Amino acid sequence: MIDIAKIRTDFPILSRQVYGKPLVYFDNGATTQKPRCVVESIADEYYSVNANVHRGVHFLSQQATELHESSRETVRRFINARSITEIIFTRGTTESINLLASSFGEAFCSEGDEIIISVMEHHSNIVPWQMLAARKGVTLKVIPMNDKGELLLDEYESLFSEKTKLVSVTHVSNVLGTINPVKEMIATAHAHGVPALIDGAQSVPHIQVDVQDLDADFYAFSGHKIYGPTGVGILYGKGQYLDQLPPYQGGGEMIQTVSFEKTVFNELPFKFEAGTPDYIGTTALAKALDYVSAIGMESIAAYEHELTTYATERLRTIEGMRIIGEAERKGSVISFLVQDIHPFDMGTLLDRLGIAVRTGHHCAQPLMIRLGIEGTVRASFAFYNTKEEIDSMVTAIERVRKMF
Ligand code: PMP
Repeated sequence: MIDIAKIRTDFPILSRQVYGKPLVYFDNGATTQKPRCVVESIADEYYSVNANVHRGVHFLSQQATELHESSRETVRRFINARSITEIIFTRGTTESINLLASSFGEAFCSEGDEIIISVMEHHSNIVPWQMLAARKGVTLKVIPMNDKGELLLDEYESLFSEKTKLVSVTHVSNVLGTINPVKEMIATAHAHGVPALIDGAQSVPHIQVDVQDLDADFYAFSGHKIYGPTGVGILYGKGQYLDQLPPYQGGGEMIQTVSFEKTVFNELPFKFEAGTPDYIGTTALAKALDYVSAIGMESIAAYEHELTTYATERLRTIEGMRIIGEAERKGSVISFLVQDIHPFDMGTLLDRLGIAVRTGHHCAQPLMIRLGIEGTVRASFAFYNTKEEIDSMVTAIERVRKMF
């Protein structure tokens, strides 16, 4: 059982007020709040350890390097990768996908090749592939979904051809909440000899992810959505692929030797980590992962499922409520529309009542086109949220509805 009252004391921001109302923070899909241990780790490391990593012979540099590299081990353990050489530090999911689109595209894609994505992707898993398409003449193929927001797996299977080079799909939709059957989808890709990248931005914070069990070839996520700091993210990649890929950016750290005639690139994972890494951020990310591990990802998933089920039932009691995304398996994201109230109006008025939700297209405009809507209101939950907060949101929505 999760002790919510105790957990909430670890997140000072949760006890603040906005417009004189207690804050109800339901924008966890955009970013999560940070526990004290994460914020304190940042201050502590700057105050007592700070020095650039990897290059120094002096005490502080070695200590900072140890912290940075032990964070890599924490990440490895958290997603059960085989080796720390398969964990690349990036700025976030977006950079992880751009890295892969650039390097994988360079090494493996040429004119006429195909990449499969889905209709429910975030722009960060669409635009890098479109940029690759423009550079290399690659074609994007899109897996469609049904009206409940579930990907059509038969159609997916029929998209493969001998030209298919990669599948890149989201584990959990940031709009619909759908948990895609990625293990099955990866197996399908492998049956066609194709590797798969999974966008884990919305899954890693909420469900236990085991990259070996999924057999994912690449897996991307952001630290700030899992209670860690902004500016740090992960690209996991199987060593067999990473070894074959060219570097993403050039500079310090990613080289072994440089002369004006020839540069020898560094070994994994440093080959993909040009420049000074955010070593303060990686230590803080490791603290965040330790924090959620201590609570237990299974307990977190079970509690958030309970919250989401409760919220769905309560929201359904509201007249004119339309929940967008009714997949069988859903994460802790609920998108909705009430009557013909514009999402922006709903979001703004809820904000005045202390409820922080997100409104708009959620960086998934192609999905909005598929749904035939401009945007939604989105409430997304974390393990520090409560049923009382959901009640407050439902009461607030009722108030807004009556105003229209
Ligand atoms: N993919 C999904 C599914 C997301 O929800 C997000 C963030 N909203 C991203 C990618 C991008 O993450 P970031 O902005 O942290 O790079």
